[in-house]
Amino acid sequence: MAAPAWLAGQIDVAEFAHRYGPRVNGWTMPESQTKRDRLALVFAQDGYALCQAAWSPAAPAWIRGIEAVAVLRQVLVQTYYRRTDTRGREVIIKRDADSEGVPPGRCRLASPYDTDARWAAKGEDLFWCGYKIHLTESCDTPPEAEAEAEAEAERHGRRMPNLITDVATTDATVPDVKATTGIQQRLAEHGIAPGEHYLDSGYPSADLVTAAAAEGITMVTPLLADHSRQAKAADGFDKSAFRIDWTTRQVCCPQGHRSTGWHPVKQHGRDAIVTEFAKADCRACPARTRCTAAARGNRMLTLRPKEIHERVAAARKEQDTEAWRAKYALRAGIEGTVNQALDITGIRRARYRGLAKVSLQHAFSATAINIIRLDAHWTGTPARPRASRLERLAYRLTA
Ligand code: SF4
Repeated sequence: MAAPAWLAGQIDVAEFAHRYGPRVNGWTMPESQTKRDRLALVFAQDGYALCQAAWSPAAPAWIRGIEAVAVLRQVLVQTYYRRTDTRGREVIIKRDADSEGVPPGRCRLASPYDTDARWAAKGEDLFWCGYKIHLTESCDTPPEAEAEAEAEAERHGRRMPNLITDVATTDATVPDVKATTGIQQRLAEHGIAPGEHYLDSGYPSADLVTAAAAEGITMVTPLLADHSRQAKAADGFDKSAFRIDWTTRQVCCPQGHRSTGWHPVKQHGRDAIVTEFAKADCRACPARTRCTAAARGNRMLTLRPKEIHERVAAARKEQDTEAWRAKYALRAGIEGTVNQALDITGIRRARYRGLAKVSLQHAFSATAINIIRLDAHWTGTPARPRASRLERLAYRLTA
């Protein structure tokens, strides 16, 4: 405890010991919602009382510098607010996400024990509190001439194993796409930038694919399909139905009309070009319902700069082919590595608190997997999955 003497003068120690003495994992919450709400209010009153004492002029300034005090204050701000009711009394309200609003997930404390951990969700039924790990491993695709030799080596167990080349750890709310640049930069710094970088659909964006290509990295990854209303309608005029003349800065629509406006803009911090067609052309157009539902009456088309636009168009076309799908199947190998990390190193459970230490845990786990793979390769012993507790018990009984 950081300031026992000061604390004893501020609170009813016996009462606080009764309420907060047992370890939190030994708590039993009341079953009824009313009682749980009342308890939440008591926690808030205790927290506010402590913070008021810590921020009173009589309290030493260093009390406010204690990390646990700062965390308590942050929890209170994020969870409750106070207002005065019609009779002039102070009322504590627990924030509701719909009515009072709560901070966005990336800022919201998920646990007072680990202030870096965050709640995140994937799909409709996967929720977790903590962190996210991004693993990168080698997956060489040898030139055709070497392929047969590689296959022969694999048949005899001499093929070099895939090794984990990068580990990135973020809090659980950070989208995968934010990790891509960092991964590629670190690989380049270590002199192992991939010629082809296989990634799932969470990691690419049109800008990232273009920037990686400029660094000599081809991202083999499914780019999101065109989500415009017209593309979804399947028979509507999506972007691919328009011919773009980048030199004259004009777009020609499927009905043969030329755009009348070309406006370079910034959208969400990215360069874009908004083009528009003449109202007179669109209003009189027989194919209008397939093209636009705009209240203004004319079709607008948003484009990315030429290099990005053409790269995305080519990538979408290519990823629609069997050859690309067969090639992309190589990415599935990383799932085996993730399973190995889960099975052998128990990576799903953070053993430490804080992003820095959890990152270190993940780096150790990746190193362990590399060592296991190299050991299996050099000694000719295939890596075995970790023995289950029942298998270990059976071994002990027979040994
Ligand atoms: S609505 Fe306008 S842009 Fe679309 S096809 Fe008709 S004339 Fe061309």
